[in-house]
Amino acid sequence: MTVDYLRVSVTDRCNLRCVYCYPSGGCKLIERTEILRFEEIYHIVRLFAICGIRKVRLTGGEPLVRSNIVNLVEKLAGLKEIEELTLTTNGVLLEQKAEELKNAGLHRINISVDSTERQSYKDITGFDNLKNAMKGIHKALDVALAPVKINCVIIKGLNSSQIIPLAQMSIDLPVAVRFIEYCPTSRYTKPAGDFVSSSQIRRIIEREHGQLSTISATNRNGPALHFKINNAAGTIGFISGRSTVFCHNCNRIRLTSDGMIKPCLYSSKHYNIKRLIRTGAADEEVIQFLTGVIEEKNQYTKLTSSVNEFDMQRIGG
Ligand code: SAM
Repeated sequence: MTVDYLRVSVTDRCNLRCVYCYPSGGCKLIERTEILRFEEIYHIVRLFAICGIRKVRLTGGEPLVRSNIVNLVEKLAGLKEIEELTLTTNGVLLEQKAEELKNAGLHRINISVDSTERQSYKDITGFDNLKNAMKGIHKALDVALAPVKINCVIIKGLNSSQIIPLAQMSIDLPVAVRFIEYCPTSRYTKPAGDFVSSSQIRRIIEREHGQLSTISATNRNGPALHFKINNAAGTIGFISGRSTVFCHNCNRIRLTSDGMIKPCLYSSKHYNIKRLIRTGAADEEVIQFLTGVIEEKNQYTKLTSSVNEFDMQRIGG
């Protein structure tokens, strides 16, 4: 597998408190001085690009709460090796920023919305912001940050009643609604019985809408498998990080907002690139370091751990 995809978490701060990701009741925030500055992120991505990275996704925390995020997008969009520049957001601030992001060179966007119902959205996120998130989705469609993908995590007892309304979004709008299997983290571990697998979600959708037609049944281009409800404007995807293992197809590496490189989401191993950058290492030295991390990543062909001792809000999904 060619490792060509970098996810960059630009902040650990978030404007929502999704119970499964960034629960209220105390996330210790990273000191501001420890968070990578934009020049540092640009510097690292530029050198990663020399090592073969072609696709960059900005995430968080919530990337749109970081001030001047559009400036970072513009800088990264100027790197000629980067063929795809994308961002994952909860969409709450997107209506105001979508056009600027598009003009700055962002190619497309993923928006996380786990419910189409006001109270249940509030129960999950802690905020009455569904309206803003929906406006964000429509604005992203208007400015053609396409294809617009909607990320949904389903947890029994929390939002499993939302499977059909979320699937309906793929009928009404030209969006890719993707159901991501919930992954237990160090902050939020639901009993195993509360897990809803992709195949269970698919069965529920097929009971309502008939058999889904297959668009891509292999995950060679990323973890999602894509399907379509008959006559729908958009598509349905399943990302089955728990019920299947796609390590052999994983092409992604992660950079945390405090400057750690993580070759695998499920491994505790990380490498301190910030220290190297802040001590003034020469480009050649950093490139050698990054090449080593990428080579090591290629050895992660199976899950290294079953316990996920990470905070999703720090790493960015
Ligand atoms: N704030 C942005 C957002 O809401 O999209 C970006 C960061 S968020 C950590 C990125 C993605 O990770 C979201 O789609 C979220 O649903 C997903 N995520 C967070 N915690 C998760 C968990 N425990 N299991 C599966 N996906 C999770």
